[in-house]
Amino acid sequence: MTDAQHYDVIVVGTGAGGGTIAHRLAPTGKRILLLERGDYLPRERDNWDSTAVFVKGKYRAPEFWFDKHGNQFPPEVNYYVGGNTKFYGAALFRMRPEDFGELRHHDAISPAWPLSYEELEPYYTQAEHLYLVHGLHGEDATEGPASAQYAYPPVQHEPRIQQLGHDLEKQGLHPFRLPIGVNLTPGRSVTSVVATVGDRGGEGSTAEFGADIVVVACGAVNSAVLLLRSANDRHPRGLANSSDVVGRNYMRHNNLALMAVSKEPNDTRFQKTLAVHDWYLGSDDWEFPLGGIQMLGKSDSEQIHGEAPRWAGAACPDMPFEVLAHHAVDFWLCGEDLPTPDNRVTLDRDGGIHLALDVDCKAHDLDNLYVVDTSFFPSIGAVNPSLTAIANALRVGDRIADRLR
Ligand SMILES: Cc1cc2nc3c(=O)[nH]c(=O)nc-3n(C[C@H](O)[C@H](O)[C@H](O)COP(=O)(O)OP(=O)(O)OC[C@H]3O[C@@H](n4cnc5c(N)ncnc54)[C@H](O)[C@@H]3O)c2cc1C
Repeated sequence: MTDAQHYDVIVVGTGAGGGTIAHRLAPTGKRILLLERGDYLPRERDNWDSTAVFVKGKYRAPEFWFDKHGNQFPPEVNYYVGGNTKFYGAALFRMRPEDFGELRHHDAISPAWPLSYEELEPYYTQAEHLYLVHGLHGEDATEGPASAQYAYPPVQHEPRIQQLGHDLEKQGLHPFRLPIGVNLTPGRSVTSVVATVGDRGGEGSTAEFGADIVVVACGAVNSAVLLLRSANDRHPRGLANSSDVVGRNYMRHNNLALMAVSKEPNDTRFQKTLAVHDWYLGSDDWEFPLGGIQMLGKSDSEQIHGEAPRWAGAACPDMPFEVLAHHAVDFWLCGEDLPTPDNRVTLDRDGGIHLALDVDCKAHDLDNLYVVDTSFFPSIGAVNPSLTAIANALRVGDRIADRLR
């Protein structure tokens, strides 16, 4: 390997974790290489076309994974510069302070983090400002204390969602405006921090790079795959895996999309502005955490037709999909799923990287390997994970920058 192929830091993957840590490390002036398997996402009409995105899955990773029964399925992942943040809903919540402690669920315990909410809090604030999150701290009664307000005001509800908010309040609930990382400033571009060295040599060709520090941030499944695939004589079970936990304890939330069909038409264009956390930690008739409810992006007829033809058709046989979509109000229900060792990523089938890492996300087995994507979560809470991954990447970035001094 020549000196030109040696870097101070290599970051593998450019999503919420990898892109953010690269942004944090850039001012150190060190030689940093980002390795990203995907290309830049082209800006084209199909970006806004439901048939292309949802029905044809044009931007999905062109591969199949296997479930525990050996059945193949197309994974909902996207390999592009920026990772899944190029496609996500940008709902950027902090986990609740309770999520960092042990939480008793109906059938088991959600384990505590080695890090407290208070320790991550300054990084949550930085993450919210960096990702242009629009919201208002104080509206959601379940959130922890924030050392600074969001830099941008909440996105206002459109009339139908405002009406829904009033209706929920009449029921005694406490809907709030969903914190969302969108750029609403005309003429200003979204923060972009990435530069990639793509492998232009074609499939099967290899290139060799070295670094003093390697940060793996390929996403929860692919980081595990990369470490397992990197087994060698000194690390026969895979890198950082002397404890055999790499790939185990995979979590993905218990998610459900719920489409209500309202008597009134729903002309909303940007629907993802409201959330309800009244039952996040339990309810009057259920002592265990129940998770959150938030609005989904507005469904349209192509999406309903493509994703739910049978039940949608059966529920409203006389209603064309266009009419159904015009009256649809769409919700995302999100509950915590618990880490179990058997829910795992293996190389030829379907994980997280728990306990293989120390509190600063450095591998126990290796002094120069860090993992900073969503795979480090000891437990996942019931809010969308990206802001926590981003805040953590900023935190770990500071630790690595200290090492590089
Ligand atoms: C449709 C959709 C909506 C979502 N909505 C939300 C939301 O509203 N709020 C929220 O918080 N989260 C949301 N998520 C989840 C969120 O996108 C992910 O949790 C987040 O992007 C994970 O960040 P990451 O850094 O772990 O991985 P990713 O963002 O997946 O980034 C991993 C990167 O590594 C690259 N890579 C993978 N393998 C390799 C390899 N071997 N070599 C080199 N590069 C590699 C990938 O191409 C990718 O760029 C959504 C996800 C989807 C798919």
